[in-house]
Amino acid sequence: MRARAYATTAADQPLAPFTVERREVGPADVLIELIASGICHSDLHQARSEWGPAKYPMVPGHEIVGRVAAVGAQVTRFKVGDLAGVGCMVDSCRACRPCAQGDEQFCEQTPAWTYNGTEMDRKTPTFGGYSTHVVVTEHFVVKVPEGLDPFAAAPVLCAGVTTFSPLREWGCKQGDQVAVVGLGGLGHMAVKLAAAMGAEVTLLSTSPGKQADATRLGAANFELSTDRTTFKKLARRFDLIIDTVSAAHDYNAYLNLLRPRGAMVVVGVPPTPSPVSAFSLIAGNRRLAGSSIGNMRQTQEVLDFCAQHRFGADVEVIKAADVNDAWERMVKNDVKYRFVIDAKTF
Ligand code: NAP
Ligand code: ZN
Ligand code: ZN
Repeated sequence: MRARAYATTAADQPLAPFTVERREVGPADVLIELIASGICHSDLHQARSEWGPAKYPMVPGHEIVGRVAAVGAQVTRFKVGDLAGVGCMVDSCRACRPCAQGDEQFCEQTPAWTYNGTEMDRKTPTFGGYSTHVVVTEHFVVKVPEGLDPFAAAPVLCAGVTTFSPLREWGCKQGDQVAVVGLGGLGHMAVKLAAAMGAEVTLLSTSPGKQADATRLGAANFELSTDRTTFKKLARRFDLIIDTVSAAHDYNAYLNLLRPRGAMVVVGVPPTPSPVSAFSLIAGNRRLAGSSIGNMRQTQEVLDFCAQHRFGADVEVIKAADVNDAWERMVKNDVKYRFVIDAKTF
């Protein structure tokens, strides 16, 4: 079937209307008619080839929520009309060790990323969620609880799971001191999720204007990372730091804010590397780690967690025709806290 979409044709080109041919619904496939499509900073990094040469034309988008419009004969978990979601992956080999352990995002064959990738045949390009419809194999489709607003739920498929996964994996719990660096799409979900897990959350931001929002979202403390005294004041404070910043910054300064054996988990992907001093890690046996999205089980878990705690993302819903402006505003750090495209407008 033909789906309307928005695509870019080169790193220096804007997004423009485009038509995607979606495959026939196969026996294990789910056809989703989109309601909402979130805008992640990764969309822009990739569309502009900031992480290396990308595949064009590119239809970005990996925060997808819609209604099931058709299912293949072997599909058991979904029926027509269900609210469903798709995140950053649409397939993996399902046979390698990470896949067998349920960590599809670490597939040794490389997962089929939702866009800027290929299906597992390594030939068919994938086109993402800035579109009216997607066809995805059932294993990579999650149930979106009916209690969640579809627009607020869409960002949970990437921003939500990307911050939920390290909070869970590093054992965030009641009373922990957790710092979140950067209040954007990922950061605001990290604040809400860590606070809901019972942590005392400190938001470290470059934007003085975000203090009131940080408090409303659940942060107990707000500190400016542009003020050098902050790094003295908060030295050795945190059990866990979740770093969501999209631009290069000094990891050493933040590592120094960890307690002995504390961990800083990098989820933001600045386009350029930053040096890390051995002393920053050795002092206090500190740990510096990374975290890539989350697996399919965690993607379902975070949606259920959000439904249980009655929150989604804070979103600004836009029309597809305004997507280029939204991207520019995201670069200027002018988004509270996630743009979501109304899929009716593609
Ligand atoms: P975003 O909404 O643009 O938020 C990024 C935040 O970083 C901004 O709100 C800002 O917060 C802070 N920031 C921006 N420029 C900065 C600078 N020069 N110095 C210090 N802080 C700065 O982006 P997002 O969608 O949340 O994505 C954040 C990053 O995570 C991106 O690099 C994205 O590609 C990456 N990502 C990674 C994964 C993964 O699997 N690891 C998944 C999704 C996204 P303040 O105003 O509060 O300072
Ligand atoms: Zn993303
Ligand atoms: Zn695999």
